[in-house]
Amino acid sequence: MKANEVIDNLKRRFPNEPEYIQAVEEVLTTIEDVYNQHPEFEKSNLIERLCIPDRIFSFRVTWQDDKGAVHTNMGYRVQHNNAIGPYKGGIRFHSSVTPSILKFLAFEQTFKNSLTTLPMGGGKGGSDFNPKGKSNAEIMRFCQAFVMELWRYIGPETDVPAGDIGVGGREVSFMYGMYKKLARENTGTFTGKSLEMGGSLIRPEATGYGNVYFLLEMLKTKNIDIKGKVVAVSGSGNVAQYTVEKLIELGAKVVTMSDSNGYIYDPDGIDREKLDYIMELKNLYRGRIKEYAEKYGCKYVEGARPWGEKCDIAMPSATQNELNGEDAKTLLANGCIAVSEGANMPSTPEAINTFLAAKILYAPGKAANAGGVSTSGLEMTQNAMHLGWSAEEVDQKLKGIMKSIHEQCVKYGKQEDGTINYVKGANVAGFMKVAKAMMAQGIL
Ligand code: NDP
Repeated sequence: MKANEVIDNLKRRFPNEPEYIQAVEEVLTTIEDVYNQHPEFEKSNLIERLCIPDRIFSFRVTWQDDKGAVHTNMGYRVQHNNAIGPYKGGIRFHSSVTPSILKFLAFEQTFKNSLTTLPMGGGKGGSDFNPKGKSNAEIMRFCQAFVMELWRYIGPETDVPAGDIGVGGREVSFMYGMYKKLARENTGTFTGKSLEMGGSLIRPEATGYGNVYFLLEMLKTKNIDIKGKVVAVSGSGNVAQYTVEKLIELGAKVVTMSDSNGYIYDPDGIDREKLDYIMELKNLYRGRIKEYAEKYGCKYVEGARPWGEKCDIAMPSATQNELNGEDAKTLLANGCIAVSEGANMPSTPEAINTFLAAKILYAPGKAANAGGVSTSGLEMTQNAMHLGWSAEEVDQKLKGIMKSIHEQCVKYGKQEDGTINYVKGANVAGFMKVAKAMMAQGIL
């Protein structure tokens, strides 16, 4: 396989899908050597079968707002690869959603899920519906209309969706309610459910906590203590909130958070009380991060991202391509020693290359944020067993999984000079498991 040729070919076939091509390029260039050590892979054209999703469903979602006006949005589900388990991956509601974005996310999800040690394939779905400013009733009607189309294609052993940007506990509950009604089964075909309906303790916290656990594993390789470290976090949604919660608990000092309008810089650090305020602001009132700056009298920068602020550690936790090459150089110049990604593909290729060249501790999202889907996998297990584990039990399992993901990255990513290339490690480890399963299952 020549990675460049495969990528050029995909570019020709899918000309308007830059995010998808970006994700494929990042993986193929790092697995090329290992792939080429297996002529049997090439003989069965494994690479194209792995890069192109098994199938994509797209549908119109029609819903009515509170004033009676009728709207249409597009809905999608990308079932990327189920070689190692049922398709699994979140649903995103954001006006920027396109097939390209969902294809990149489903592709990444396949490798991420492979790393978790659990039997889950990769998928992703969503809609260009914008939930901002919508009433509770409008959200409910949209979620119900979305699932009226989607429900035929999913199931507990087929495809298990979850949340993502714009989809939290509220939306999952609305979608699961309608799914249950149509499918006439109560088998947990959605994860991220609330506790009363089969959700798992620690699932809301899992992506953020897991990212911090992964960071701790990376810091351990250099005997660095997290205590007192200054951390820049972006985003203020699910992932960012629980990243900050765990960082505070461990004695780190978080100085930034953001939303799609701008970021706040609090040199005193965001403490527990301030985080409670952010959680209330974002989860209950769906307010803007700017209000934090007004309440606590700190700096707010409109239309910017927080990477210009001095920090020891950066944890991008908002969205894709939110940290570019220039940001990466600024972070390094300011003494940043580690970057651990809560979001999916938040760093551009230029930023990734800058981090890799500087040999800082850099964890790509597919390794560092895999705690969320791992705990979704644990939710599926609990649902199948018709029981629920304690928070301590789930948290212990999550820690174990993050440790194992780190070990896999070290195994495949250790360089001659002793440093660890986590990008290569995660890609090769994730790829090998899926590749072996696909080879064993024949030409499908
Ligand atoms: P939420 O919707 O809860 O929060 C998203 C946050 O990012 C919000 O603060 C939002 O701001 C901000 N944001 C969204 N889009 C943009 C944008 N285009 N530019 C700047 N800021 C933006 O989502 P999650 O916290 O669940 O997801 C965050 C990231 O983590 C995503 O990349 C997601 O794919 C990834 N992820 C999530 C997992 C999970 O378990 N939830 C698991 C693994 C990865 P605003 O409030 O203005 O919308």
